[in-house]
Amino acid sequence: MKESKKYGINTICVHTGEVKDEQFKGAVSPIYTATSYAFDGVDVKRYPRYFNTPNQEMLCKKIAALENTEDGLIFGSGMAAISAALFAFLKTGDHVIIQQVIYGGTYNFIVQEFEKYGIEYSFTESDAIKDFIPLVKKNTKVIYIETPSNPLLGITDMQAVANLAKANNCITMIDNTFASPINQNPADFGIDIVLHSATKYMGGHSDISAGAIAATKEHIAQIWKTAINFGGNLSDQTVWLLERSLKTLNLRVKEQTKNAQEMAEYLEGSTNIDRVYYPGLKSHPNYELAKKQMKGFGAMLSFELKEGINPMVFQNNLKLIKPSMSLAGLESTMVSPAQTTHALLTEEQRLKRGIRDGLIRFSVGIEEPKDLISDIEQAIKASL
Ligand SMILES: *Cc1c(COP(=O)(O)O)cnc(C)c1O
Repeated sequence: MKESKKYGINTICVHTGEVKDEQFKGAVSPIYTATSYAFDGVDVKRYPRYFNTPNQEMLCKKIAALENTEDGLIFGSGMAAISAALFAFLKTGDHVIIQQVIYGGTYNFIVQEFEKYGIEYSFTESDAIKDFIPLVKKNTKVIYIETPSNPLLGITDMQAVANLAKANNCITMIDNTFASPINQNPADFGIDIVLHSATKYMGGHSDISAGAIAATKEHIAQIWKTAINFGGNLSDQTVWLLERSLKTLNLRVKEQTKNAQEMAEYLEGSTNIDRVYYPGLKSHPNYELAKKQMKGFGAMLSFELKEGINPMVFQNNLKLIKPSMSLAGLESTMVSPAQTTHALLTEEQRLKRGIRDGLIRFSVGIEEPKDLISDIEQAIKASL
């Protein structure tokens, strides 16, 4: 286990979990598209929905190596991974603690599905550990967090959550999508189940839908038992594309992270911007905690346009940066949470969550920061 850790990160990205082409000695993994495999009497029955075709099985090794865990599983989407993981550990009568600010799709899954199955849940008041502690009950089985969180880049103390869970025999789960395995490895802080929407940084080119889980062999085996019933496996063609994407994961995310720091500092100094939310800024309330638990501060940030600049007009005036709900691609994108992801909330509910009308979420790509800055400056000028 964890044997790949002896390799450096780029070596893991390129090589770990390659499918060897024994027949022709090609340089890259061949794609095995078969849905039927000879049953040779051993207990391995290969079948796509069992998550064990050659491409799936091998790519899981790369996922595990990237997150420094024993094992991994890949899925058809981030939500397929998240829903399978939660249902694998929860049953009627159980209780789960969920961090207040989480991905909208996960929130919908919990509030729309859990009641049907008699699973209780409590949302925390904030991401501070003091707000998790009073929610622990006798039947609490899972504590679910997301850090950095969307869209205000809140930081949750992973070690503190893991300690609280261990003291109460609970499983911890984290949505690690925003950080990616390059900037944060939650298993190193005692978090049990690490979840990813691989549609985001792992895919990285805004062209595939996938999900991933990294955990111990024992936990992955338990999730697998539920996952084969839900049937959310990834097609082997897309597994192969994800493998190709992951070869450049470190190169991409490192560059995006460096650019995000530069953009955050530029925005913080701009008179047209009221506030910047980025864990790599000293002004972030949890800067020290982020420094302790992250290897890099990530490539997501948010900022508030000063009053008088209409966020929709600003976005329409952008020429290079694309207005887009999705994130983490090579290309920079921006979105107005008040008008999109949080549009269904009332203004009062939004303000309670700190989401003002002028807030813009910025997914920083690999373009040169000087070009991104020019684009923002011309868009502001045109919007005044
Ligand atoms: C996109 C996203 C998801 C859901 O992933 P899908 O691949 O769309 O199912 C979950 N968590 C976060 C933080 C995301 O950004």
